[in-house]
Amino acid sequence: MHEMSLAESIRGIVDEARERNPFERVRTVVLALGELAAVEPESLRFCFDAVMKGGPAEGAELRIEQVPGQGWCRACASSMVLHALYEPCPACGAYGVEVTGGNRMQVLELEVE
Ligand SMILES: [Zn+2]
Repeated sequence: MHEMSLAESIRGIVDEARERNPFERVRTVVLALGELAAVEPESLRFCFDAVMKGGPAEGAELRIEQVPGQGWCRACASSMVLHALYEPCPACGAYGVEVTGGNRMQVLELEVE
């Protein structure tokens, strides 16, 4: 499952942060989640709780900040907010809009204690 591997990568980030800068536990994980990343926030929360069990981020709050999708049209060179993949360009109607943002997940912040 996509969400499960994302949760595991968050755990990897937590472990790395802890090696650099030891802490007791993680209180909050703040994520930027792109609208086009094809991730279900509820399912990600479920996987997060499961993956973090027994580690420093067990029981941590997962705060998800949604990032809108962004696209760029090759045909007319306009930039746009994109709500779904494979949508035609709203300016000229061409297909093949390139996704330029909002298609990834990124850990913005770890609040630790
Ligand atoms: Zn266009």
